[in-house]
Amino acid sequence: MKALVIGAGPAGTRCALRIAARLPGAAVTLAGAEPALPYDRVALSKYLVGEVAQEALITHSLADLRAAGVQYRPGTPVASLDLAMRQAITARGERIDYDWCVLATGSRSFRLPLPGAELPGVIPWRDLAETRRMIEASKDGGPAVVIGGGLLGLETAVGLAARGMKVTVLHAVGWPMERQLDYDAGTLLANRLRARGLTMHMPAATVAIEGRERAEAVRLGTGERIPARLVVMCVGVRPNADLARASGLEVARGVVADAAMRTSDPHVLAIGECAEVEGRLIGLVAPALEQAEIAASTIAGEEQAWAPRADSAALKVSGTHVWSGGEVAPVDAEAVTFRAGESYRRLWWRGERLVGAVLYGDTGEAGFFQSLIASGRPVASRAEAALGQAWIGNAA
Ligand SMILES: Cc1cc2nc3c(=O)[nH]c(=O)nc-3n(C[C@H](O)[C@H](O)[C@H](O)COP(=O)(O)OP(=O)(O)OC[C@H]3O[C@@H](n4cnc5c(N)ncnc54)[C@H](O)[C@@H]3O)c2cc1C
Repeated sequence: MKALVIGAGPAGTRCALRIAARLPGAAVTLAGAEPALPYDRVALSKYLVGEVAQEALITHSLADLRAAGVQYRPGTPVASLDLAMRQAITARGERIDYDWCVLATGSRSFRLPLPGAELPGVIPWRDLAETRRMIEASKDGGPAVVIGGGLLGLETAVGLAARGMKVTVLHAVGWPMERQLDYDAGTLLANRLRARGLTMHMPAATVAIEGRERAEAVRLGTGERIPARLVVMCVGVRPNADLARASGLEVARGVVADAAMRTSDPHVLAIGECAEVEGRLIGLVAPALEQAEIAASTIAGEEQAWAPRADSAALKVSGTHVWSGGEVAPVDAEAVTFRAGESYRRLWWRGERLVGAVLYGDTGEAGFFQSLIASGRPVASRAEAALGQAWIGNAA
């Protein structure tokens, strides 16, 4: 049996390893567009800030992969699939046979369609090569602008500031990370980042990137011009579905797949950020890895179904503790807030069930609140639950 996994991000790499482990006789090929060995994309923020070295990002060596039964082909972008022949056609025109093909092509960063968005010095951040370009650009210091004050934008801003750049964050909404944080937690975070030397412009509308040979400044809707040697766009991602589309597979926002990861072709599966599983896109590594496991079971002939769980996210900025899980500020839920000094918690309840939580300052109880959200366990004493596990434990 020949299995071909396309895309060597976390989902594709995990899936290739699991197929090889479950079906020892199979020929498993992992074809990745990037030239590098599989690496930890999540840790790129730590690499940017200087907390880990580039070598430490690598998750699997060639020898590891070979020993596990996976043939890795870096620098091999696949252009299309010939579904009838069950062959993948690489950008160089080579054909690779498969019995099973798994698409794990991930996402790409969205480039805002602004005048000047294609100038050198404008980077939509996603991969290792772009991180290296950002590090290179930061070597002479100077001003940088990060467009987007979500998780990725803030990690970028802190990273570039740590490398000596004077960083301005432009965010379209009045507080950062508005998808994960309520206004109060977002404001606490913004103030903390300002105290660390970042300039936070919120709300700010970016209308153009200016420069002759390369980016020199960012123009706002107010007319204000902010100088920038480097502009990093962190304004969201889009599923990489071009390959699926070019091959005639069904694509909506992502590659359409069922809960067993099957696409519209019975021999092709899709997992991770490129996949739209039962109408749902994902944007985090944990569900991408779960889907990789499910795809390997489907290929091994087991019937398993992926079930989405409540998302949670933490900001990876040292000295700043921010966590959010489940639904943030849903209109049909009641909020309970607890605040003591620098510690802030807001919990959203539907009746006796916790449906969402935001923690700022002290995130030590994140795991507990996450499990409460995931289990749907009823809690009678919700006002006091904000105090955390010890209190609920005593009350139970
Ligand atoms: C800086 C940064 C920090 C992050 N931090 C977090 C975090 O703290 N927590 C979290 O949960 N998530 C985080 N994420 C998101 C996380 O990285 C993604 O959810 C995860 O990488 C998705 O995995 P994937 O395998 O689906 O896709 P990807 O990681 O995008 O991998 C897809 C791979 O497929 C390759 N590819 C694309 N097209 C082709 C083709 N045609 N042929 C061959 N190869 C192709 C791409 O080059 C890429 O290497 C972060 C992302 C970034 C960029």
